[in-house]
Amino acid sequence: MGRRDRAMAMSPYVLIVAGSDSSGGAGIARDIETVSAFGLRSCLALTAITVQTHRQVEHAELVRPELVAGQMRAALDTNAVGAIKIGMLGTAAIIDAVVAVLDDHQTIAVVLDPVLAASSGRLLLDATGRTALKGQLLPLCRLVTPNLPELALLTQSEPARNETEAIHQAGLLVDQGARAVLVKGGHGTGDTSTDILVERGRSPVSFDAPRVNAEMRGTGCMLASAIAANIALGNSLEESLRRSKTYVLDHLLEQTASWRARP
Ligand code: PLP
Repeated sequence: MGRRDRAMAMSPYVLIVAGSDSSGGAGIARDIETVSAFGLRSCLALTAITVQTHRQVEHAELVRPELVAGQMRAALDTNAVGAIKIGMLGTAAIIDAVVAVLDDHQTIAVVLDPVLAASSGRLLLDATGRTALKGQLLPLCRLVTPNLPELALLTQSEPARNETEAIHQAGLLVDQGARAVLVKGGHGTGDTSTDILVERGRSPVSFDAPRVNAEMRGTGCMLASAIAANIALGNSLEESLRRSKTYVLDHLLEQTASWRARP
């Protein structure tokens, strides 16, 4: 066993609860890639199989809720799990199953990327699912990471037009039981992409990065997985957010550089 393999064998795992994306643009493939970029291993609970290209979701087949819960329990029984990343859930019934498992493991930090729709348009969680996510799952999570359209849907508001409105909407989620909300500014405008951390009883904290004009899918998956990996490594929430934003930015810059280099 090499030194890297030995270090990984002793490190905590990140449990990824998410759907597959056959294009590789988003979903569980992105999550595993990200967790291993931080030197950690993943264990998995697959929630859905999607047939999708970068342009459309052609089909989504959901995994039975008891099978999702079974995968999670087996992963948690087998490994030292340092954090859990949750992505696509699909239905309220799957959320109920996930919540039942999390109730038994409340000391493990959970990072929730509230996947509501693919950027190509198709809904990946229906309205009943949104209610279950807000009412039951949010209070069990250390952090939820909505983008501006997701935040608007979750708070039944118009998309926030500025930071004041975004902070107000994040505050509504905190009032409904979220411990911490990271509002992602990727769907905003301007030269800077600002993410804002809103936590109960604390002033909002901003994380700035230059805005990169790149249409890359899966950045939400990457950010939430990177945060979960950093928490599993023992970093504070704010340090985890800083490192994760840098990681996603580096990927976006790499991607734009490789597009420019194409003949
Ligand atoms: N498909 C799956 C399985 C996902 O988990 C996600 C996001 O997490 C998406 C699609 C949406 O990704 P995008 O917004 O990049 O299309």
